[in-house]
Amino acid sequence: MEVKSGVHLIKGYSNSFIVEAEDGLILIDAGFNPQAKSIRRYIREKLPRRKVKGIVITHNHIDHVRGLRRIVKEYSPEVLAHQADTAVLRGKAPYSVRGGLLKPLFWILFRFADTPRIEVSTELSDGEKYSVLTAIHTPGHTSGHLSFIDENRSILYTGDAIATRGRKLNLPPNIFNENPIETRKSALKLAKLEFESLLPSHGDPILSNASEFLRNSALMNKLGFNS
Ligand SMILES: [Zn+2]
Ligand SMILES: [Zn+2]
Repeated sequence: MEVKSGVHLIKGYSNSFIVEAEDGLILIDAGFNPQAKSIRRYIREKLPRRKVKGIVITHNHIDHVRGLRRIVKEYSPEVLAHQADTAVLRGKAPYSVRGGLLKPLFWILFRFADTPRIEVSTELSDGEKYSVLTAIHTPGHTSGHLSFIDENRSILYTGDAIATRGRKLNLPPNIFNENPIETRKSALKLAKLEFESLLPSHGDPILSNASEFLRNSALMNKLGFNS
């Protein structure tokens, strides 16, 4: 569904996005489906004549990258991610397993799951631009977690740094965060930016007045944003 002009939301276990740029389509994350079915169908039906130029990865969790191999096979895009998260994408490390009390369950589910085994073409660090997107390093959830801002459209893509549930903003549960303290710092970093819309990887978009909404949220109050 086109949520803003030239920005398409593909709902799944985690959201993926297709961003239209002058030189092609930029995907944000590849989703949980190993065949990336909904993403490919959407492009086929709604954007059939556009070239997929690149895919940027917010972080290496399985629900965001399981479709990556299929996407690369189909479109041969550039693949961009933060250096700290590339080992899993390259197949040099298993999916990171956190999970507290649920750890045995996650261990079974993810430890042996196929990683994408895809070469990352470009490593992005904080402040680097790729087409219409600027990477914002927001470590904590994973050490290489990236959010992205599209300054022209005034959209912040939070990845898993901040999720929404209705109009409520949340951090990911600590059992999923590599470093809970960094996770909180990263959310505070995002609250200092100006943007009209906030598009999370989990939950519904907040389309207007989003940075103000974030700064005044219960979440930011809890994290001591104004103190
Ligand atoms: Zn995640
Ligand atoms: Zn996620």
